[in-house]
Amino acid sequence: MGFLLFNSESSQPIDKSRYKNTKKYVDLLTPNHPTPLVPLVDAITKGAKVQLFMKRDDLIHPQVSGNKWRKLKYNLIEAGQSGVKTILTFGGARSNHLYATAAAGNVLGFKTIGVVRGEEYNEKDTDTLLFCRQQGMQLIGISRSEYRQRNDYEFIQRLKKEYGNPLVIPEGGTTHLSLPGVAEMVYETTIQLDSKPDYYAVAAGTGGTAAGILKTEATVLAFSVLKGGGFLEEEILTWVNEPWGQDNLRLFTEYHHGGYARYTPELLKFIKEFEQEHSVLLEHVYTGKMLFGLYKLMEYGYFPKGSSIVAVHTGGLQGRSHDH
Ligand SMILES: *Cc1c(COP(=O)(O)O)cnc(C)c1O
Repeated sequence: MGFLLFNSESSQPIDKSRYKNTKKYVDLLTPNHPTPLVPLVDAITKGAKVQLFMKRDDLIHPQVSGNKWRKLKYNLIEAGQSGVKTILTFGGARSNHLYATAAAGNVLGFKTIGVVRGEEYNEKDTDTLLFCRQQGMQLIGISRSEYRQRNDYEFIQRLKKEYGNPLVIPEGGTTHLSLPGVAEMVYETTIQLDSKPDYYAVAAGTGGTAAGILKTEATVLAFSVLKGGGFLEEEILTWVNEPWGQDNLRLFTEYHHGGYARYTPELLKFIKEFEQEHSVLLEHVYTGKMLFGLYKLMEYGYFPKGSSIVAVHTGGLQGRSHDH
């Protein structure tokens, strides 16, 4: 298959003539296309009389995994085309987005700078930060109070001035160019299923991935992985900015298990059993929580009989904790 730039079904046309791609872009940005769509059948899906599938975006690339690959794709292409040399972005010490940006920057020849919240940076390197360094990312620790300014215009201008006018990508990697990359996952799925599923289920951190799916007019079940994730609804609808947004989005805020990256014994038990039954590895920060919530909904009889649901495995397995 050639370089899949953008699907014609997209509501956001991208000028393909801008992307005279070099081999390294093609190599990084067309691996394993399309990712597998696999049916998941077990006692609960049978009881709920639904058809559940998993879109295995965790297999999209060994280092730039899952939704981070989808979200970075057009940001990176655009950066390359506009002559950007350096990409600066933000994240915590276990950020999948930092990890993905470092790896992609290394392959594509961008200098990358990762701004990490101070106290996390000062701890001994996590596996994520170690990997980022190995990929050539320059890491900068800033204080907690400075980190809070990460989306402020003046703070960003200051960083730009200090670090040679880099392209600044926000924490989590969501920009308006992230949506078309995520939408391609939906178009792939439609082709694989030969129809549109009734629902997509996805974990939400910034909500950018949910927004990219919603933009295609699909119905999205978004599971907040953060405590107090109610703000995500407005966030997602603002990104999408389409008349169907509100009707097609269902945000679930009660499956965070204590907050971002926190977990409960119940969640870990669910993950272990799911992994054993389906031979698919999960992690407890994102996809594990989404599936936990989705399985509760199936048990509660949330879905009309015969519904088809695509659960998106957004990847991030390199962040899978080894300590439980
Ligand atoms: C970052 C991340 C998410 C959250 O994506 P958003 O677009 O920020 O909502 C979900 N799953 C994994 C594995 C991630 O790394």
